[in-house]
Amino acid sequence: MAKPDFWKNSKRYYDLKSYWRNLFGCSVHKLQIDAGFTCPNRDGKVAWGGCIYCDGRGSKLRQQGTLPSVTEQIVSGKKYYAKQAAKYIAYFQTFTNTYAPVEKLRSLYDEALAQEDVIGLSIGTRPDCLGSDVVELLKDYAKKYHIWVELGLQSVHDKSLQFINRGHTFQQFTDSVTSLVEGNLNICVHIIIGLPGESDKDVLATAQTLAAMPVNGIKIHSLLALEGTALGEMYKKGEIKMITKEKYVSLTADVLELLPPGMVIQRLTADGYRDIFLAPDWAMNKLDVLNSINRELEKRDSYQGMHYIKDKKEL
Ligand code: SF4
Repeated sequence: MAKPDFWKNSKRYYDLKSYWRNLFGCSVHKLQIDAGFTCPNRDGKVAWGGCIYCDGRGSKLRQQGTLPSVTEQIVSGKKYYAKQAAKYIAYFQTFTNTYAPVEKLRSLYDEALAQEDVIGLSIGTRPDCLGSDVVELLKDYAKKYHIWVELGLQSVHDKSLQFINRGHTFQQFTDSVTSLVEGNLNICVHIIIGLPGESDKDVLATAQTLAAMPVNGIKIHSLLALEGTALGEMYKKGEIKMITKEKYVSLTADVLELLPPGMVIQRLTADGYRDIFLAPDWAMNKLDVLNSINRELEKRDSYQGMHYIKDKKEL
């Protein structure tokens, strides 16, 4: 399969940087924002304690004390990236960024969009936190701005969602995608490779299922065991094994081959957590993981979409 023309300067997969350059003709950067949200999977509304891998501390800013306003966070992020980016996406990243009354959400998102050179939003959330009022608000923004909704899913298998204590089902995820699909919104899904109990076939089924859905982007990372989490405890007791680098690289390449060529690959590794990191040790060398995935695709002479089957199932 030839590399698709529309990727332009992209790698063997359609990376976010290339996608935004194609779309806007300039360099675009995400500015991470912690707007002080919590998560219903941590505070008892859905469950207590959260997903078994979630460290629950929030951003570095939150750990340092009082959170700066959205405006202050954007101004300081823009200073940091001034030499690299011409336009910005405000990325509401920490915990569940639609978990508040819609008027509060409107005020926070409006504040972000009022900043110079901010051309859109990326909003990280859960499938069970997208009520119809929130979806309408996001669709309204999408008439004027570039909007991504980032949905944590991790796996399409309910047995895995239960094991990691996600507090929602795959059906709830498909319902949320159905509600978001019209109205110019972009959907990005987060998945994890290396969940205990998942076979290679299970991982590929996750990829194939998402490939058949109206999903515009994906973030992939390996499962990380962190100090202070339920998963970290399981790892220390020897109850679970972490995925090897070789297996992660090979499965990630398999997944990329199954995804549609137009799906934007927003991430292929995990970031941060150095101070509480337990395992797998290879995952902290982000550059090496990315280079290894590129080398694997080169070795196979394959690309994202190589084994994508076009006839999409309707939701
Ligand atoms: S949904 Fe996200 S923020 Fe909430 S517990 Fe899970 S990983 Fe943590």
